[in-house]
Amino acid sequence: MNILVINAGSSSLKYQLYNMETEDVLAKGRVERIGMDSSILTHEVDNQPEVREVSEILDHTTAIKKVLDMLTHKKFGVLRNMSDIQAVGHRVVHGGESFSRSVLVDQAVKLEIRKLFDLAPLHNPAHMMGIAAVEANLPEVPQAVVFDTAFHQTMPPISYLYAIPTVLYSKHKIRRYGFHGTSHDYVSKKAADFLGRPLSELKLITCHIGNGASCAAILYGQSYDTSMGMTPLEGLMMGTRSGDLDPAIVPYTINKEDLTLNEVNSMLNKHSGLLAISGISSDMREVVDAMKEGNEKAKLAFEMYAYRIRKYIGSYVAAMDGVDAIVFTAGVGENSDALRKEVCQGLTFFGVQLSGERNAVRSSEPRRITSDDSKVSVLVVPTNEELLIARDTYNLVLEQHQTITEADSDEQSNEGE
Ligand code: ADP
Repeated sequence: MNILVINAGSSSLKYQLYNMETEDVLAKGRVERIGMDSSILTHEVDNQPEVREVSEILDHTTAIKKVLDMLTHKKFGVLRNMSDIQAVGHRVVHGGESFSRSVLVDQAVKLEIRKLFDLAPLHNPAHMMGIAAVEANLPEVPQAVVFDTAFHQTMPPISYLYAIPTVLYSKHKIRRYGFHGTSHDYVSKKAADFLGRPLSELKLITCHIGNGASCAAILYGQSYDTSMGMTPLEGLMMGTRSGDLDPAIVPYTINKEDLTLNEVNSMLNKHSGLLAISGISSDMREVVDAMKEGNEKAKLAFEMYAYRIRKYIGSYVAAMDGVDAIVFTAGVGENSDALRKEVCQGLTFFGVQLSGERNAVRSSEPRRITSDDSKVSVLVVPTNEELLIARDTYNLVLEQHQTITEADSDEQSNEGE
């Protein structure tokens, strides 16, 4: 079965085509600048030069059409025709309280995602455009939606409630949802495999450290707490996001700097974090390079960034009354040995003994970076959110086939009676 995984944004769309028998990526790419002149489609197939096509792509339906044309292209394509795509899986950022697992798309699901537009105004409308665009191009093909929030729906009220009047929760669903759920889910399973122990017996802390960053406390296989909140702004210091701060800073800044609420919102989301403190970049590589050259602001930004991660790890050890393993993943978590070292050197009290040699190893495989006598293991586990979306879609389509087959055979046996 071939499954196309789509991550649709408001002006861009990323795709990966999977062969689910082997879980190989047959092709991947992205469309950028949708709705603008000179849209760009970039398409990659293993061991072949990247293809770039510039054209006018005014909406998501045209973008998907271009992707399908590329996937079935005589020279650059990997499929004979469109019917070789058996299902499509979409990443959806916000599933609110309505979705605690991935589901196949139907009218009711679409209605529910629409109801959540208020909670994720930048993301969910774009995902819906992606779903409609696939429907327009591949009307017979089943589609599934995989939510960033779903994995965290197991959090208990002590983790997900804010200490504000409860009417705000009952009326407007203001609570912690958490994000990066597919990644926390994926790496926690991989970590249990690597450790050779059942997930249901493990206390794990997963640190997804990329442009966006979040930690999760995973107690016996279920999300117990996570650092992002109602939106992805809360928690760790990130590339351009502030993470945790005293909410009183918002009205104070509005008054002192004569800013609007929107401007402060934009400041906290786009002009804060590593970028603001280093004054150099939101990209960790550039911050680390500047720090190595003696830049003091870069050093401060790097140390603050690591310190926040360490504090969350400490609080999650307390939340779960222990930890078996700490897992680093995503762009920074997988690639920056300097960051991992900075975080872990303050965790010796919990029994973390980092091995400098193991921490320096680069590999695309899960690996342990603590010494053999470390009480707590620290692992690096590369994440793969697209693969998890493809797997969930595959399983949902198989379940549906099975249900239809069982219903058919029931009907036939009833007819025979
Ligand atoms: P996104 O949240 O956009 O999916 P990624 O998980 O791809 O982000 O992570 C992007 C971040 O990873 C960038 O800040 C980048 O600097 C960082 N990164 C990638 N490679 C390295 C590296 N070798 N050292 C430090 N940081 C790195």
